Amino acid sequence: MAPKIGVYICHCGSNIAGIVDCSKVSDFARALPNVAVARDYKYMCSDPGQNLIKDDIKKLGLNRVVVASCSPRMHEPTFRRACQDAGLNQYLFEMANIREQCSWVHTDKEMATEKAKALVAAAVKRVALHEPLETKEVSMNANTLVIGGGVAGIQAALEIADSGHKVYLLEKDASIGGHMAMFDKTFPTLDCAACILTPKMTTVGQHRNIELLANSEITELSGYVGNFKAKIKKKARYIDMVKCTGCGRCSELCPTSIPNEFDCGLGKRKAIYIPSPYAVPNKAIIDAKNCRHLKGKAEGKADVCRLCQKGIPNRNQPGCEAEAIDFNQQDEIVEIEIGNIIVATGFQQFDPTKIYQLGYGRLNNVFTGLEFERLTNASGPTNGKVLLKDGSEPKAVAILHCIGSRDTNYHKYCSRVCCMYSLKFAHLLREKLPDTAVYQLYIDMRCAGSGYEEFYERLQEEGVNFIRGKAGEVTDLTETPEEKGKLVVMVEDTLVRRKRRLPVDMVILSCALEPRPDTEQLARILTLSRKADGFLLEKHPKLDPVATTTDGIYIVGACQSPKDIPDTVAQASAAAARVLALISKGKVEIEAAIAYIDEDKCAGCKICIDMCPYKAISFDEVKKVCRVNEALCKGCGTCVAACPAGAIKGRHFTTEEIMAEIEGVMA
Ligand code: SF4
Ligand code: SF4
Ligand code: SF4
Ligand code: SF4
Repeated sequence: MAPKIGVYICHCGSNIAGIVDCSKVSDFARALPNVAVARDYKYMCSDPGQNLIKDDIKKLGLNRVVVASCSPRMHEPTFRRACQDAGLNQYLFEMANIREQCSWVHTDKEMATEKAKALVAAAVKRVALHEPLETKEVSMNANTLVIGGGVAGIQAALEIADSGHKVYLLEKDASIGGHMAMFDKTFPTLDCAACILTPKMTTVGQHRNIELLANSEITELSGYVGNFKAKIKKKARYIDMVKCTGCGRCSELCPTSIPNEFDCGLGKRKAIYIPSPYAVPNKAIIDAKNCRHLKGKAEGKADVCRLCQKGIPNRNQPGCEAEAIDFNQQDEIVEIEIGNIIVATGFQQFDPTKIYQLGYGRLNNVFTGLEFERLTNASGPTNGKVLLKDGSEPKAVAILHCIGSRDTNYHKYCSRVCCMYSLKFAHLLREKLPDTAVYQLYIDMRCAGSGYEEFYERLQEEGVNFIRGKAGEVTDLTETPEEKGKLVVMVEDTLVRRKRRLPVDMVILSCALEPRPDTEQLARILTLSRKADGFLLEKHPKLDPVATTTDGIYIVGACQSPKDIPDTVAQASAAAARVLALISKGKVEIEAAIAYIDEDKCAGCKICIDMCPYKAISFDEVKKVCRVNEALCKGCGTCVAACPAGAIKGRHFTTEEIMAEIEGVMA
């Protein structure tokens, strides 16, 4: 059947029409071969705009449609649906991008209009060769994998599990809880972090729909939305999880004492230990790197220590009576099948030793924000007392904002939470040590959030000294008698334009939130992309901030960008809702404009397998040819270009279609 094409030029308000003469483009399109109708309209994506297309398909019998508007990423699904609603196969549609490629990048109206005409001519030429394609549906496995057991992962896991669906909650550490479990209070309401988090942690541990895989990591992922297979490495814990009662006797017997990570190294733990007072699972774990027996075993020594297991009989101190300690345990790989994945791996704190002049790691009593959380926490190494390293109370404390954030040497971005947690620290200091002077050294106060500005105002009334200026240096080189024995913070107070030396006893560095070091590896395993700052990339920053370009994989919380607890929890709930929507649908539609391999031409060279970024191509060992997994293929075209035998074709991207498009542009 001869092509009968409708062409629709969108003004996008003044976004396109401000630069491109849309009516001229429309007049031009009307005169092109095979074009039956051409119109321009203010907003093609609006209901009236779409109705123009639908009515023309029905009344004029159009069998091809071209819309010249914005990026296909934005509205291709909208216009495809409009075609389908009017009874036209959705793949008999083509989009020309005259916004991002014309009006947004050019200032010369005449030239931009000429370029828009060329792009429309190309789309008209190309759409004439389009074939109708049929989408397929694949079934949806109702199980979900949540990677990361911090507050984001916990929230997402609970919402899905509460709806009656199985969740595997994967946590690399020995307990869930993440950073929030280390916090004392949360801003601006000053709720105790543990009080609001631990009930959720306990519910996760007891939930019949949640299988908690602590001390575990994902090593491999294959499959596609609805049908993923993941390989999980369960690291040896050297403890029988069924037998261990979490009594803690083993820790008391263990002679090895090392810095406790949960207390940021400010307190100690044993080589066999329960990760925190509210750990879930509440079971012991042996740190193989520091356990005398396991180290000895690795060096070929037969039987070192084992006090945790054997006890000290002559002191009438039995070892583990539950017989839960198993030094022979090995790492284990388990394979699970899931339909969706939520990534909630969080962040790491910026390492301030990189900023030498701030003295962290060199000068006593310079702490990070996370260390201060532990110092002020009742379950921390000082039982919640804010003490200096010598055990005395500080008389003056300086809290330094933006350490590693808003700094072109480290991270350009604002970490969004540092101003607020710094205010929280100031409040806790004023509450616990009313006679202690507290200084906040800030660049700008950023207090955007419900109740945040009010909290800032409250702190101003609590007697905190606010100094607008970024600290340049922290030194113990004192100049005056009143500075003796103190740390001196050098700062330029930009409000009064004066350099100041602040003698204080304690410095708290409000460090940036940055991507975890394993983000790159995780992104590789899950085929996700990262942003320039290293955080995981969302599908669309405004309209789809929890989805990714890999269908069925969502990102939530601080692995996407720095954010506070309310935003993290909101994102986790949003991702859970997306997963539940797919599960309730029971199946998922897969794109039809993908690659296919002509088996008669395939030479079996396997070049395409390594080229495919979505692992969509496999080799048929019997027929000795490659095959495209239709559910995995994204139609990116990489393999089409790479195949030396010309055996791969991209549906809707055939050589003929691409040549037609080029001819259209050149005409
Ligand atoms: Fe703007 Fe695209 Fe909608 Fe047109 S279709 S109004 S270009 S957003
Ligand atoms: Fe108690 Fe044994 Fe578990 Fe240690 S390993 S916490 S002693 S049950
Ligand atoms: Fe501690 Fe010794 Fe047991 Fe190792 S073997 S966990 S060092 S008591
Ligand atoms: Fe892989 Fe892209 Fe080829 Fe599809 S078109 S098989 S995603 S390389």
